[in-house]
Amino acid sequence: MNGITIALSKGRIFEETLPLLAAAGIVPKENPETSRKLIIETNQPGVRVVIVRASDVPTYVQYGAADLGVAGKDVLIEHGGEGLYAPLDLKIAACRMMVAVPAGFDYQNAVKQGARLKVASKYIKTAREHFAAKGVHVDLIKLYGSMELAPLVGLADAIVDLVSTGGTLKANNLVAVEEIMPISSRLVVNQAALKIKTSTIQTIIDAFRRAVEQSP
Ligand code: ATP
Ligand code: MG
Repeated sequence: MNGITIALSKGRIFEETLPLLAAAGIVPKENPETSRKLIIETNQPGVRVVIVRASDVPTYVQYGAADLGVAGKDVLIEHGGEGLYAPLDLKIAACRMMVAVPAGFDYQNAVKQGARLKVASKYIKTAREHFAAKGVHVDLIKLYGSMELAPLVGLADAIVDLVSTGGTLKANNLVAVEEIMPISSRLVVNQAALKIKTSTIQTIIDAFRRAVEQSP
């Protein structure tokens, strides 16, 4: 395998991609949680992993700085997917994109009354498309984190955020009132790299696909 760069984010994506890499015979030599290195060599000469912010993975792959990457559907929607081939749902880092409001806020009624909702989110594109499809007027407020705080201090009526266990919502007295879509991570491939390094990249895609099919 020569000259392959794989973009991953540390945390759940790195951890959950490890078994898939192993199925392709690729084992990173360091753990990004303990190493400060951003370029991690693997047991395969010429195959390396670069550690980037989760939302930056599509950008690295789009511009060919990485040949492959793993990114959440949430991130891919916000990015737009330009220049990317996304052949495989890896079924990892699963969660749901939800609308949440403070406990006691009558969301269904607010929507029915045609109220103009203030919605805070990191996922502006997803939120805009969701409420446009429902015909609900919204003022969108872009945030970069701690979305749960926004309705508690009057910045927003509702948030659009990823929910896995619901623990963070509960701890902040919020309730999920609508599912927008289920989320999992996809393998993304640079389209030009696929043409130039077809056999190596196809081998990795095939190994990932078999591993996904075999996992419960
Ligand atoms: P950062 O933590 O760098 O601000 P991030 O929260 O997008 O960025 P991660 O926490 O590593 O990055 O999440 C990576 C991906 O994991 C998300 O894009 C999403 O697809 C998925 N994911 C699964 N469960 C959750 C969750 N409960 N919260 C956030 N992301 C989740
Ligand atoms: Mg995070």
